Amino acid sequence: MKKQLKNLLSLSVCTVSVLLLSASEIPNQYGHNHVSWGFFAHKRINKLAVLTLPPEMMVFFKKNIDFISDHAVDPDMRRYSTRIEGARHFIDLDQYGTPPFPHLPRNWSDALIQHTDIRVIDTKGDTLLLVSHRDSMTPVMRQEYRRWFQQSVVPAFYSGKERVDTDSVFRFFSEWGRLDNRPDAAFFQEFISGHGILPWNLQHFQQKLTTAFRERNARKILKFSAEIGHYIGDAHVPLHTCSNYNGQKTGQHGIHGFWESRIPELFADESYDYFVGKPSYIENTRDWFWKCALDSHTMVDSVLSFEKMLRESFPPDRQMCPDMRQGIMGIHPCREFASAYQDALDGMVERRMRAAIIAVSSAWYTAWADAGQPDLSGLDAGAPDQQELEEDQSVRNAFALGKILGRTEDH
Ligand SMILES: [Zn+2]
Repeated sequence: MKKQLKNLLSLSVCTVSVLLLSASEIPNQYGHNHVSWGFFAHKRINKLAVLTLPPEMMVFFKKNIDFISDHAVDPDMRRYSTRIEGARHFIDLDQYGTPPFPHLPRNWSDALIQHTDIRVIDTKGDTLLLVSHRDSMTPVMRQEYRRWFQQSVVPAFYSGKERVDTDSVFRFFSEWGRLDNRPDAAFFQEFISGHGILPWNLQHFQQKLTTAFRERNARKILKFSAEIGHYIGDAHVPLHTCSNYNGQKTGQHGIHGFWESRIPELFADESYDYFVGKPSYIENTRDWFWKCALDSHTMVDSVLSFEKMLRESFPPDRQMCPDMRQGIMGIHPCREFASAYQDALDGMVERRMRAAIIAVSSAWYTAWADAGQPDLSGLDAGAPDQQELEEDQSVRNAFALGKILGRTEDH
């Protein structure tokens, strides 16, 4: 099974690299395609997070540590099979002004409302714009609209649909005087996910995990723990919080994987201090997830500028070296060059990885506490049911095909 997966991974990495090269015709300076934190670091972060848990949680998590570690990469694999998935891994904060981005709602419904149009197709076949995201509304209107939006549009967004129920649209907008007849179709168009939804998505997954604990649903606890671990990991990577995510705007193609894959793969296990202490309860998860992303964003300048400086000063013939990675020979940043970058960043990669580990276990711990600290001692994950197996297989198949939906690389 492991070997099969390894072959699958190797195949996909090849396929994806070829696809990307031919699509963009921009050679990746660092010679390989990569996904967030690299598979290596995501798995490590989840595994090490388990080891920090209190005994009441450890009793269940420890015996499932391999699942939680292996499935840390599912969200990245799912990017190849689900259109909405890609947006969950990043946020281009620089699209929203300057830190701390006061006009960007931290609450998902408000953010989505602020960036969504509602349109209908009337009985004559004409498309009408009912609400523009630029509309200004009175506070009362906004409150009513918000209530309707939460019931009718937010669930549609999460289920990946663009259609909105026409009855609901007619009922609401005819009262507002914006519609005279029941439309033939209604849909929303949002302008937010193209810039990523990472911090909002974290809150969504935190709720899913809390519900899973409340229901004492072992398989869901494992699935959502593994997956929120992934997204929290991503939130700790500076380049996941800006639009220049792979240095493509500054001639630094490949810096994404250099920072989050190559450096941890070379140095994490041999020199990082993995002792990160105990998880703590998070009072306000929403603000805390935002803080993770905002903290990461403050480091973007250093990530980019130190690499640029180093590339100009380091002997060019000692920057890239042939090396094996995931069973494939390729050209990657040399060990000495990677080490110099790591030092120039004053150990930032290690610091962010350590912060991610304790953040993951704190989020798990908080979900468990918020669910009323359910007894996990007798919980048995059992075997996955048919549906879970099929979903798992289709994600892996799509990944193997390397058909990326949505944004193409590096988030
Ligand atoms: Zn990711």
